[in-house]
Amino acid sequence: MTSPPNRREFLGAVGASAMGAAVVGTTTSCAAPAGASSVPLPLASGDGMPGGSPLIVSTWNFGVPANAAALARFNAGDAHPVDMCEAGVQVPEADPTISSVGYGGWPNADGVVELDACIMRGDTLACGGVAGLRDILHPIAVARRVMDRTRHVLLVGEGARSFAVNEGFPTQNMLTERAANRYAEIIAERALRGGHEPWERLGPEINDPNEDHDTIGMIAMHEGKLAMAVTTSGMAWKLPGRVGDSPIIGAGGYVDDEAGAAVSTGVGEEVIRSCGSAMIVEAMRHGAAPTDAIAAVLRRIRLTTTSRGATPYDKAPQVAFIAVDRLGRVGALALLGGFQYALTRNGETSLVNADVLEP
Ligand code: ASP
Repeated sequence: MTSPPNRREFLGAVGASAMGAAVVGTTTSCAAPAGASSVPLPLASGDGMPGGSPLIVSTWNFGVPANAAALARFNAGDAHPVDMCEAGVQVPEADPTISSVGYGGWPNADGVVELDACIMRGDTLACGGVAGLRDILHPIAVARRVMDRTRHVLLVGEGARSFAVNEGFPTQNMLTERAANRYAEIIAERALRGGHEPWERLGPEINDPNEDHDTIGMIAMHEGKLAMAVTTSGMAWKLPGRVGDSPIIGAGGYVDDEAGAAVSTGVGEEVIRSCGSAMIVEAMRHGAAPTDAIAAVLRRIRLTTTSRGATPYDKAPQVAFIAVDRLGRVGALALLGGFQYALTRNGETSLVNADVLEP
């Protein structure tokens, strides 16, 4: 059995691989999954940097319209990247066909949609989040208010909802008919199987790629300024009150203009346990290229899940990150195949198949 690397080995490994990758501005040490048309991640001159167009990266295929909205916010003028991120992720939040973010998201084990979100700016490190928020269409906008109008960072549950209502956000039922129907099916399937508990995440429904398409996390960069936003309905059929990584600064996302930014998607418990996004940003601060920084964290997560027994339910979890360093280099990597991200450079957006961490 292999022992997980200690902290010194971890930082040494990412530092060494970063030096090897810095010459070409991309990382190629991780094998692509079969069939993936993975593209290199060049350092386009000026993207995200002074004189260049904005750089926008976000998770999954719904990142494509989200990036478009972020870019539109930029083109409307006077936008810090945090404004771009806030505008961008509201697109999947409002899309009823997306079962893992906002309106239309699959509910918790009680059939209630509970939403997690956070937002952060890399210049001041101002940040805000909401967790377990009910009845609000745009949790990211509430997270932004937490950041801008309170001295706090994270509001949860009924307190978050009351804050949103006091701030003038309208309430609505976030459970779509489609989600309610799927919830009824899940409950019935579980009863037929003789039922494990709803939050155990063992059911075949979780392995359906159409149902597990995850959180939107976005990173935007312009003129060397960075921001990130993350928003999700979280793990489908979760225990009521469960909070994932997405609203937690340092887990679901982190950004510091002096180092870079990272956001996650996948099994949030593993990302919280590894302090994933903060670890990636810190590795980049010490010189690691983005994909190498991600790889080090994913390796640790894989070791933790396979050899240390922390998670009896998720022995082979999907976890993926995207990251941007202070030079505007982009990285992305996943534990399992199928992860895609939307990349906007020079006003053009492409959907990229991310590499998978080598075995
Ligand atoms: N990370 C999210 C959570 O655990 C969900 C996901 O991205 O799949 O709540």
